[in-house]
Formats: sequence, structure tokens, C-alpha cells
Amino acid sequence: MKIGILSVGQVQREVLLELLQALPKIFPDTACSIIKEPLPIPVDAFVKKRNQYSSSVILSQIKVFVASKAGFDRVLGVIDVDLFASGLNYVFGEAYTPGKAALISLWRLKPNFYGETAGSEVFVLRALKESVHELGHTLGLRHCARGFCVMHFSNSIFDTDKKQSLFCGQDYLQASLAINALG
Ligand SMILES: [Zn+2]
Ligand SMILES: [Zn+2]
Repeated sequence: MKIGILSVGQVQREVLLELLQALPKIFPDTACSIIKEPLPIPVDAFVKKRNQYSSSVILSQIKVFVASKAGFDRVLGVIDVDLFASGLNYVFGEAYTPGKAALISLWRLKPNFYGETAGSEVFVLRALKESVHELGHTLGLRHCARGFCVMHFSNSIFDTDKKQSLFCGQDYLQASLAINALG
């Protein structure tokens, strides 16, 4: 699987570099690269009365981007704004299940958002877990009941911190089969 990491607007490069290193160690037969040109944040994604951005609008732009760009099986957008989705006050990310486009937001992963003093390792690990989770969705994986599995739904940052960056055995098998099927 070839994953392109796409910054949407301005994003800390440190996080992108960590994802670049870590994602191929989690997904089998996977190579990763950072897409040079950032995607501008779509202006129509901003919803003034909520002071948040629609993750679905941004995700659909990433989908358009993947369709226009050869060479990537999946594109993971990384953004640093507060996202919401219909019916949810906020989301850490969103993805097509299955599909080629995924999106995560760093906004609510930063320790200082919660008044925590934790360092950047915690922040980067959260970004990795949410990235693996959303990319897992693009491979057709659904939410997993096992609290330690990366496909467990994160209702809050506590759930994210509790789970691992890895799949449970069953989800790993399903992800491997989906990656094999990419050819
Ligand atoms: Zn999910
Ligand atoms: Zn699982």
C-alpha cells in the first residue's frame, strides 16, 4: 500500500515526519511519502456559528485530490483546526469506509488543549493512533469492541490514550487481506 501524507493548511512538520517513519511499521507491505504541496483548507469548510470546520467537506476535497494524483493507494490528510461531523460535537478524524481518503486533526491531540504538561511524545503518539485508525477505516475496518485495539472508537482523548497504535489480531488480518487485494 502506498500512503501519501498530505498536510491540509499549515501543519507541524515534526508530526508528518513521525507518521512517515511509523506507519510502514504498522501496516504490512506499506510505503509512505509526504506530499510536497499542502492542500489549502477549503474555505467552505468553516462554519462560523460553530467556529469549527466540517470534516466531511475537507475529506471530500482529499478524495478529489487522490483521484487527480496517480501513485497513491491512500491519502492521509493532516490538519490543525477543530473538526466536527454531523451529529458529533467534534471529531479527531474521519475516513471513507472503505475508500482512499482519510483525515485527522491535531487540534484536540495536543496535551496543552487539556491543560496537560505532557511532552511531544504523547502528542505524536496520539496522532499516530488516530492516523492508523482512520487508515484502517479506508481498508474497510469497522470499530472494534476491544479497548486496546487501535480500531476502538475514541469518544474522548482518554480512549485514545488507553488504546494502542496497533490492530488486534483479527483487525490486523483483515487489514493485511485488504492490502494484499490492492495488488
Ligand atoms: Zn472510527
Ligand atoms: Zn480490533
